[in-house]
Amino acid sequence: MQDCIFCKIAKKEIPSQVVYEDERILAFRDISPLAPVHVLIIPKEHLINVLDLNEKNVDLIGHIHLVANKLAREAGIAEKGFRIVTNCNEEGGQIVFHMHYHLIGGEELKNFA
Ligand code: 5GP
Ligand code: ZN
Repeated sequence: MQDCIFCKIAKKEIPSQVVYEDERILAFRDISPLAPVHVLIIPKEHLINVLDLNEKNVDLIGHIHLVANKLAREAGIAEKGFRIVTNCNEEGGQIVFHMHYHLIGGEELKNFA
């Protein structure tokens, strides 16, 4: 989608620190990390947020969770713990309107999303 920053990151029009990629999703480091590990996992397809999920595309979420597990293990935060968060719409704290999951960890997490 034009003017979507995460679509541009997915197409490599804007650089990012990629930690995982396949045909459906991209994972890259958050530009202003809230914890030592802060990765964003996005579908390459432009979905606005979880409200855009339907019967046809919902298996994407299972895939994102498996990749989040893999990345958490690789980052060494799996055993101690981590958080997976997706914000939806304004009061949910969504700033970028291209669906994304935050994978956050590496320290004791307080209340942030
Ligand atoms: P939201 O509040 O929408 O759930 O989170 C958006 C996240 O995207 C924020 O944590 C913010 O730091 C991150 N972000 C915004 N723009 C960029 C960017 O251009 N590159 C990267 N790597 N992260 C970004
Ligand atoms: Zn987009």
